[in-house]
Amino acid sequence: MLQRIELYPGVLTQRALRQLEALHRSQERVLSVYLDVDPQRWGDIEGVRIAAKNALNQLREHIRTLAISNGERQRLLRETELLQELAYLSAGRRGMRGLASFIASQAEVAFAFPLPWPLRHQYFLEERFVLWPLRQALDQSDLFGIVLVDKDEAKLFLGYLGEVEEVSYLFDEVPPKIRIPDAFGELQFRRKQVEHFHHHFDWVAYCALRLWEQEPFRHLIIGGLREVLPQFEWHLHRYLKDLIVARWEISVHTPQMEVRERFEQEESRLLQQQAARLWQQLNEAPPAQQARGPEQVFRALWQRRIWHLLVKPKTHYHGHICSQCGRLHLSGGPCIECGGTMTHLSDVYEEAVRETLAQSAHVRYWDHPALDECDGIAALLRY
Ligand SMILES: [Zn+2]
Repeated sequence: MLQRIELYPGVLTQRALRQLEALHRSQERVLSVYLDVDPQRWGDIEGVRIAAKNALNQLREHIRTLAISNGERQRLLRETELLQELAYLSAGRRGMRGLASFIASQAEVAFAFPLPWPLRHQYFLEERFVLWPLRQALDQSDLFGIVLVDKDEAKLFLGYLGEVEEVSYLFDEVPPKIRIPDAFGELQFRRKQVEHFHHHFDWVAYCALRLWEQEPFRHLIIGGLREVLPQFEWHLHRYLKDLIVARWEISVHTPQMEVRERFEQEESRLLQQQAARLWQQLNEAPPAQQARGPEQVFRALWQRRIWHLLVKPKTHYHGHICSQCGRLHLSGGPCIECGGTMTHLSDVYEEAVRETLAQSAHVRYWDHPALDECDGIAALLRY
């Protein structure tokens, strides 16, 4: 029996997703739970714990009303207990704002993915896991491939959402370097060694291509010593050459923690670049496709026209949401779309982010003065 659920430690790969997708229990329910564990939303760690507890209590109430066998009911209730324990222990984890969990203890499957995006509380009890809200969140960030290479070694990593995971280690033994007195012998030895390097780089390039086929990363970082890197790059397949976003001067033996730190910086640099490019795209778009400032953005959200949202982080602006149609407003009073009554929100921009994610559109946080002229929020619309 399942004793505990732990946060998934590595990079969430397509392979892991396919594994979840493939699970099917005929006539039995498996649990998919999405929790909003955003400290920004709930105030602090204690607030996150209380919110998770309340959401799981609701789920338990629902489980008690289901027409299922007692055994299945007990199993599901126990799974929610394990989930609550995990939510309690992991609350406030750095960068975690959403928690997506998938549990089928009868099949010994339990995955819990920490996500840097705000999610809405949601649960599903079906014969298969419900993955679309997870995919919506994952779609916000790009997967990276990282290749660290040396003359006889290489390490391949995947990088995603600030995490790195080593996926292969390659080692080709180089002929040992010994002093050969005879000049001709030395020459032959050198040639052999050069051939060997080429062979090794070819092999590493091939493995990188295989990795890209299995886990199609969108960006590639290559790393190695300065004298090695250009030679290796020459061997890379041209698809992969086009994906290179950074070249690191780094040893293959760099500890994973350091690789992770460096990757985190690289990833956030790229996110900033994408935001700046998006801002430019927005400014070049026809006026009908631009939404500037909260009122225009909220209207476009209500019309479900948002394609990319740019938002200043940590604004904490108060606002309102219509309890009938979900329209966001800055000011109170009846809803301008349907006349419905409003509920107060302590952070209306974050609610806009949540709604954008739920509409399968993209969000980029951008802390840049250019965005101030739109009061910190703007969007490029689909049409
Ligand atoms: Zn309304």
